[in-house]
Amino acid sequence: MPGPLVPAVEGLLFIGLLIWAQLEFASRRNESTAYRQHVAAMQDFAKEARETGLFMNFVSGGRSPVVNPIKMLGARAEDFRKHYPQVAKEVDEWNELTSGYRQMNNRFIAITHREAEKATSDRATTLPMLLGDLGRGEIDRGEITWRMDGNRFEASYAVSIFNEPVFSPMISNGPTADDVERCWSVVAAFSDLPEVREWRARVDEERRLRPLLTDSLEHAEYALGLKGKCEHCPA
Ligand SMILES: [Zn+2]
Repeated sequence: MPGPLVPAVEGLLFIGLLIWAQLEFASRRNESTAYRQHVAAMQDFAKEARETGLFMNFVSGGRSPVVNPIKMLGARAEDFRKHYPQVAKEVDEWNELTSGYRQMNNRFIAITHREAEKATSDRATTLPMLLGDLGRGEIDRGEITWRMDGNRFEASYAVSIFNEPVFSPMISNGPTADDVERCWSVVAAFSDLPEVREWRARVDEERRLRPLLTDSLEHAEYALGLKGKCEHCPA
């Protein structure tokens, strides 16, 4: 039987909510403007670090991952380091990763072409792309399927949106038995080349660090308060 009890409970809940809102407002009012600005400065630092170091935002929307150094100099960076020592450590690791990154990437791409040429002797081919994916660890050698199609030697290491293997020409226009053999050995040896191993280590480090640092910076970006003290903390 519906009695007056239900509205009473609702009324109590509503009063409780009002008291909570009042307390919440009072506690926020206690935070000085200077403190709120300081918190905002730390949030901005984290946001800028993420947007300049880890990702590039397009005007048209969307973003793509980049590997750029994050500026850790200046008063604001020092304050950030005091409030977020662990995040700052991750930023230092990231900055170490970025050092010479572009040059190494360019050198790696040059090596994919140099090695491919050993097998294809300058014939148009997609072997450098296959070597690139192999060297970065995006595919395993065991995932590659080879076939001879007419006068083309082809490899498949990716599937289409219909989940069917996509074949790309490795050696077109009539490969000889020697060509095929050289292609095999180039692919087999590629991942063990010292420069390729070195690049792979960098790529792996980026894979490890990017999600960690993204998460840490996002956390700092949305934190409404600060732990610890820095030189510029308002009293
Ligand atoms: Zn501070």
